[in-house]
Amino acid sequence: MSLPNWRIAYVFGIPIHVHASWFVVFFFLTWSLATGLLPETLPGLSPPRYWGMGAVAALFLFLSVLLHELGHSYVALRYQIPIKQITLFIFGGVAHMGKEPPSPRAEFLIAIAGPLVSLVLGAACYGGAIAVESLSAEPGLRGLIVLGTLLSTVNVQLGLFNLIPGFPLDGGRILRAGLWARNKDFNRATSQAALAGIGFGSTLGLIGAGLLAGAWSGVLERSIATNGGWLIFIGVFLLSAALASRRQAAPRISATSVTVRQIMTSQVVTLLPDMSVQDAVDQYFVTQGSAGFPVCEEGQILGLVTVREIHTLPTELWPWRRVREIMLPASPAFCIPSDWPVMQAMEHMVQGGSDFLVVMENGQIVGLITRSAIAHFLQLHGSES
Ligand SMILES: [Zn+2]
Repeated sequence: MSLPNWRIAYVFGIPIHVHASWFVVFFFLTWSLATGLLPETLPGLSPPRYWGMGAVAALFLFLSVLLHELGHSYVALRYQIPIKQITLFIFGGVAHMGKEPPSPRAEFLIAIAGPLVSLVLGAACYGGAIAVESLSAEPGLRGLIVLGTLLSTVNVQLGLFNLIPGFPLDGGRILRAGLWARNKDFNRATSQAALAGIGFGSTLGLIGAGLLAGAWSGVLERSIATNGGWLIFIGVFLLSAALASRRQAAPRISATSVTVRQIMTSQVVTLLPDMSVQDAVDQYFVTQGSAGFPVCEEGQILGLVTVREIHTLPTELWPWRRVREIMLPASPAFCIPSDWPVMQAMEHMVQGGSDFLVVMENGQIVGLITRSAIAHFLQLHGSES
C-alpha cells in the first residue's frame, strides 16, 4: 500500500504509525456504532452523543489492536529482534520486525503473545462490564457497560481470528514454528504455513460468497450479506498475503536446497607438490588469476596453496621452496562433499575464514567453489539469509 502514513507516538522506543486507510475504518466504525449498536442498546440519547460515544469506542478498539501488536513486539524485543515500526491500517495492525526469529521457540512465543494479549483484554473487559453492572444500577453507567461488552467481543474475535493457522496470521506463524522445529527447515516451513494460509483464505472467501448468494436469493436473512462481504474481504486479504509470503519463501528454498555441485566450477587446475613456489606463482597464480589451487599427486589431494601461504614466505625464498613445504595439508576444513547445500558451504567458509573450498566425491576432486560464486548465486536468487 503506497498511501501515506503518519507517526503518532513512540512506545518502548517503537514508532507507531497510522496508515491513511485506517481513517476509513475509524469513520466506518464510528458511523456503524453511532447509527446501529448505540441507539439500539442505549435508546433516548441525542445523535451527537451517539457519534461522540461511537468515536470514543472506535478509539478504544484502535487501542486494542495496538496492544495486540505491542504484545508481539515486547516478546520480539526480548529476543533482541528490532521492531522498525508498528503500523495500524485497514485490517488492524502489523509490527515490522527487523529480522526473522532466531528459533522456533522464539517464533512461537512472539506469535502467541498478540492473541494472548487480546484474549486477556477480552476477559478483563467482560469482567469489568459484569462488575459495573452488578455494583450499580445507575443509568449513567449503561454506556460503560456497553463499551466493556463491545471491547470484550472485539478483543476475543481479534484473538481468535489471528489464531487461524494460515501464514501470515499469528496462528500461521505458530504453525510455522512447529513445522520448523520438526523439519529444521525454516523456508520449507514458511512455504507450507503459507499454503495453509492460501487454503484458509480461499475457504473464508468461498463461505463469504455462499452467505452473499444465500442472502440475495432469499434463503438466508438479508442482513447476512454484510457478514458475507466482510468474509470475502478478509479471505482475499489472507489469500493475497499468503501468496506473497510463499513467493518470497520460494527463492530462499532454492538457496538451501541447491547443492554445491550445481554451482561449482568443475575445471580444476591443480599444482604438483614438488614444483617450486616460484613456478607456481609464475605459471599458475599470475596467469590463472585464481586465489588458490589444490595440490594433487596421482589423483589424490595432498593440500591447498592460497595467496596467503605464498605471502608468508619471503620472495627471495620462492625459487628454493617447494609447494609441498608451504601448502595447507588436506583437511575437512576446506574439502567438502559435493552434495552439501550451498548455504552450508557458505557457513563453512565463514567459519573457516577461507575464500574457497575444494569439492570432493569418492575421495576425488570434482570441483572448486569460491566465496564470490556463492555470493553471486545468492544475489541472483534474492536471498537475504
Ligand atoms: Zn498478531
